[in-house]
Amino acid sequence: MIRIDLSGQVAVVTGGSSGIGLATAELFLRAGASVAICGRNTERLAQAEAALNAQFPGAQLLARRCDVLDAEDVSAFAQAVQARFGRADMLINNAGQGRVSTFADTSDEAWREELDLKYFSVIRPTRAFLPMLRDAANGGAANAAVVCVNSLLALQPEPHMVATSSARAGVQNLIKSLAVELAPQRIRVNSILIGIVESGQWRRRYAKEAQPDQSWEDWTAELARKKNIPLGRFGKPEEAAQALFYLATTLSSYTTGSHIDVSGGVARHV
Ligand code: NDP
Repeated sequence: MIRIDLSGQVAVVTGGSSGIGLATAELFLRAGASVAICGRNTERLAQAEAALNAQFPGAQLLARRCDVLDAEDVSAFAQAVQARFGRADMLINNAGQGRVSTFADTSDEAWREELDLKYFSVIRPTRAFLPMLRDAANGGAANAAVVCVNSLLALQPEPHMVATSSARAGVQNLIKSLAVELAPQRIRVNSILIGIVESGQWRRRYAKEAQPDQSWEDWTAELARKKNIPLGRFGKPEEAAQALFYLATTLSSYTTGSHIDVSGGVARHV
């Protein structure tokens, strides 16, 4: 097993209080990094902070309330990271959620909200942490990376998620431009394209949509069948986290402007 020691490095995970973000924070802490997480709901954030501190006693962990769509929140989050750790080496743009809607039932307002969420959840944190990432790229550790959690919908749209799919495609394009613009500064920018990953979002849908006697396992297995997922199941948050970890660290030091598919084989293109 490859062991990678990230002590002295700082990973920032937006939306680190649940699902993929929380699993990613765990992975970085396990590798010895200092970690900063954010989310909007203070209760969920406090629970995540307590769970991580219990799992990694003495962890260098900062948990701060921050809505990535609020410029002031994001800049205060970056300042808090600078004050606490003095640096940021890896930024994981993960915060967000999907929107189920067809073209017929997506209003102008819903389109704007969706485009706002998908674009600015990448734009604002990237802009706010860029000065620290530049310093990291020029410093001793010489690894600076941005990794975005994106969806396979970017390449393979679904009509029942029309706005999310369209916004995801645009963000994938933005990530490519960012990778080229930041490459001379030795900051790598990549993404993961996920299919369906067990997380808070899906737990909430299960609570709303499952039959009263249907277990989580039965409900997800049925959905995986309906959605023709070749590996026959939902992904686990830690499986997405491992791909994020690879793209954030020197394990992928010659990779930028690229992505890893974490969809269980759902992608139809070669
Ligand atoms: P979860 O709901 O489990 O986690 C989402 C996290 O993001 C939470 O910590 C949430 O905290 C936070 N968050 C959401 N909106 C904001 C915001 N505006 N500002 C700050 N934090 C925010 O879901 P996942 O782990 O599944 O989601 C992670 C990412 O993966 C999301 O971007 C999602 O769209 C994407 N994705 C997930 C898929 C899946 O199947 N799970 C499929 C495709 C994409 P809080 O609500 O307290 O703010």
